[in-house]
Amino acid sequence: MDKKDYYEVLGVSKDATQDEIKSAFRKLAKKYHPDVSKEPNAAEKFKEAQEAYAVLSDEDKRRQYDQFGHAAFDNNGAGGYDFSGFDFSEILREAFGGTFGGGFSNFDFNDFTGFGGSRNRSAKGRDKIVRMDLEFEEAVFGTKKEITLTLNDTCDECHGEGGFDIKTCDKCHGSGTITAQQQTIFGAFMTKTTCDKCGGKGETYTKECTKCHGSGMVRTKKNIEVKVPAGVDTGVQLRIKEKGEAGINGGPNGDIYLEFYVKKHPLYQREGNDIYLNLPLTIAEAALGCKKKVPTLYGNITLTIPAGSENGDKHRLRSKGIESVNSYGKGDMYIILNVKTPQKLSREQKKLLEQLAKTGLDNDKEFRKIEEYL
Ligand SMILES: [Zn+2]
Ligand SMILES: [Zn+2]
Repeated sequence: MDKKDYYEVLGVSKDATQDEIKSAFRKLAKKYHPDVSKEPNAAEKFKEAQEAYAVLSDEDKRRQYDQFGHAAFDNNGAGGYDFSGFDFSEILREAFGGTFGGGFSNFDFNDFTGFGGSRNRSAKGRDKIVRMDLEFEEAVFGTKKEITLTLNDTCDECHGEGGFDIKTCDKCHGSGTITAQQQTIFGAFMTKTTCDKCGGKGETYTKECTKCHGSGMVRTKKNIEVKVPAGVDTGVQLRIKEKGEAGINGGPNGDIYLEFYVKKHPLYQREGNDIYLNLPLTIAEAALGCKKKVPTLYGNITLTIPAGSENGDKHRLRSKGIESVNSYGKGDMYIILNVKTPQKLSREQKKLLEQLAKTGLDNDKEFRKIEEYL
């Protein structure tokens, strides 16, 4: 999908501070808010800015976005970050309070932010963070897994109503909200609060549901199949949209955040998308050179070790590392030579080494350098 970069939408740099992000959004809100703007496509532009702001003003979400791009919030293919649960009232008050002052004195900011009464009546279900342990290879190549979660789901007995014989609430007359005037430093605002009698539903029931005891929700076990993308690492989070707890009064389900923990590999060390492997060599192999069979993530290869190799020498195998989770391309594999000095020598080995020592192995100029200071 051809979606604009959030930083571009707000016109800030990738390392913008929260203050810069706030100020950029305030400017855009003033320019594009559909209630005040005369710009073409104002509503669309304003929505874009809202989405970008909802993500970038939240450090956790911003991190996910930096890591995965739009894919971070697009697990089900439904475009973009769903910001319907985000509270814009304060930032918009900041944007418009200062400039227009009394001009908006009787303005209902709940309606202004585009959520109106429905915000009180329905709410998004709670998000859930689920830890997922992965084998090293599963993280490298991606996998499909089924997770079982116990979470609040809509009661099937009363269809989430909490009871039967539904009547319109007589306190709020079905609106679910009670409107009151509130004095603030920006003037008087009309505020809406949730009706306490019906809990914002606008309806009351005469007979309580025995299965959910009026809550409209039951605890249920749910199996959810998740697709783990190739290249994830410990600490990476993946959002599964609207598979979490049931929403309240018809609101959308919460999200599930999978947080990955990748087990260590007995042979490979991972650093970002690169793989490191320690390759032990005998002093003879290092001095004479040799061919060594080495395992990689993509099958065995034969590595040619040149004569005179030193402990710590690095061999780079391009693109034999891990697929990047948020972009194209693969990391590299590095093979680090680990020249082992023999610890236990047989009598014969000892004799041969002693003979070898007499041949003047210390003919390197480094030895001379030390001798100068003796
Ligand atoms: Zn009510
Ligand atoms: Zn029920």
